[in-house]
Amino acid sequence: MEGPGKIIIGVSSCLLGNKVRYDGKSRSDLALMRALGKAFVLFPVCPEVEAGLSVPREPMELYGTPSQARLRVIGSDIDLTGVMDHWAKKRIPVLAKQGICGFVFKSRSPSCAVDDAVIISEKGGQKGPGLFRSSLTELIPPLPVADNEDLADAAVRENFIERVRVYRRWQDLCARRPSLCKLVAFHSDHKLLIMAHSLKHYSLLGKLVAGAKGGSIRLLCDRYIALLMEGLQLNATRGKHANVLQHAMGYFKNVLSAQEKQELLNSIEQYRLGTAPLRSPLARIRRHLRKHPDEYLLRQVYLDQQHR
Ligand code: SF4
Repeated sequence: MEGPGKIIIGVSSCLLGNKVRYDGKSRSDLALMRALGKAFVLFPVCPEVEAGLSVPREPMELYGTPSQARLRVIGSDIDLTGVMDHWAKKRIPVLAKQGICGFVFKSRSPSCAVDDAVIISEKGGQKGPGLFRSSLTELIPPLPVADNEDLADAAVRENFIERVRVYRRWQDLCARRPSLCKLVAFHSDHKLLIMAHSLKHYSLLGKLVAGAKGGSIRLLCDRYIALLMEGLQLNATRGKHANVLQHAMGYFKNVLSAQEKQELLNSIEQYRLGTAPLRSPLARIRRHLRKHPDEYLLRQVYLDQQHR
């Protein structure tokens, strides 16, 4: 399943058109799969079938509370929580080893939902995560996840794709024996990208890295990636992007002519006002960088051609 340089994400198998649902059907979301397939290798996982349940099978439901939900066959006392948990505890470490960098779940499924599965309780119906989704987040907390309905929104999809790419770079860092020095470099390379999502998180992450001396690097990395993923989940708006572009411009404005400066400022403003796409001011910045290389800016993930 792994190819050199390819980023792999897990996907609820029924979304890919596989007939694995309880009723023997699929829930194809081909438009979304096509969009994600341009960026990632999509790896199908059906928790219920992989845990040994048949197709077709009796429909199931969650009951209890969102933090302690259990899975049962509807209208019976057949509880499948143990079966699913047992499978998940063995399967998730394998998925992690295979290098999945994100997961797209089927909405509202008692196994797969991110947060909108109905949970039957004495207080009536509540909403919460499916059983497999809970296990995945428990064992790989920073893994980017989203459901197919949320990802129909282009901005949410772009945000998810970005988080997955960052997580992949994070995995690469972790595979190279992380050190404080490497973490500082990682943080520095992602500066503009983080700023485009949340200045607050950029500042908190900076303090975390700057204040780290001695102590466990593993613990520091865990705190860093959790905070980073929290920040990246906030959407990058036109206003935030425009501020970041102006910030980037500050690094080489002294070498630009008055006309070049004005043209770049106009391009950023047109983007801010919604009359030009982000790639317009970014292309100008890249052109200027080719003429006037700045090592710090050249390392910025935010300006990476492949990233936009
Ligand atoms: S929602 Fe999840 S458990 Fe249900 S059929 Fe799809 S992949 Fe399988």
